[in-house]
Order: sequence, then C-alpha cells, then structure tokens
Amino acid sequence: MIACCGLDCSLCEAYMATRSDDDARRAQVAKEWSVLYNTDIQPEHICCDGCRAGGRLFFYCDTMCEIRKCCMENDLANCAECVDYPCDILRGFIKIAPEAGESLEQLRAELE
Ligand code: SF4
Ligand code: SF4
Repeated sequence: MIACCGLDCSLCEAYMATRSDDDARRAQVAKEWSVLYNTDIQPEHICCDGCRAGGRLFFYCDTMCEIRKCCMENDLANCAECVDYPCDILRGFIKIAPEAGESLEQLRAELE
C-alpha cells in the first residue's frame, strides 16, 4: 500500500473511510482536508482504494499529483526506483511529509 510518493495509503484517512464505507468519517475527512488544503472537498470526494491499487482514486492523487504522474509515465512503482531520486519535486514533498521520505529510503535500502 505504499504510494508512488512513499506515503502509506493504508494509513490515509480517505482510504480508511472508503474501506469502512463510513459516511460520517467521509464528511469529517472532507471538512478537515478542505481546511488543510484550502479548497472545497465534499464527502463524496473521499473515496480511494490507494495510489497503486488500480481502483478508485481521490481526485487529487488521480489528476493533480505530479509525483504519481511521473512514476506512471516512467513505469515506476514508486520514486525509490527512480534514477533521479530524489528530484526537486520529491524533495519538496518530503519536507512536508517526512514519513514518505523515510519509507522511500527503506525501499531503496531493500533494492540495493
Ligand atoms: S492515493 Fe488515496 S489512499 Fe493514497 S494517499 Fe492519495 S488519497 Fe490517500
Ligand atoms: S523524477 Fe522525481 S517524482 Fe519522478 S519518479 Fe523520479 S523521484 Fe519521483
């Protein structure tokens, strides 16, 4: 369940609300993420099976995430497999999500 960027989708609020099919939790996540990301997220947007699961995807991860787009275009499971690791986009992301960076470092150690 590790996303292209290194985040663990199994710990993501949207994933958990989807798995439990919990509308109250969807509404809560939508409210929190609207404030956090300064945008309008509705409860029905909170529907995601995970970055690499091949199912439903949260709209940001599906259409706006540059990291996921890059991995898909280069046929990489995640950034740990990339020859340009860590690029500037990824570095910027890891600054706000250090846990993703730790996860990618672990994956790279396993690849060696
Ligand atoms: S792909 Fe889905 S589960 Fe993974 S971080 Fe994005 S919204 Fe969460
Ligand atoms: S170029 Fe950057 S975003 Fe793209 S796969 Fe490599 S590390 Fe990830």
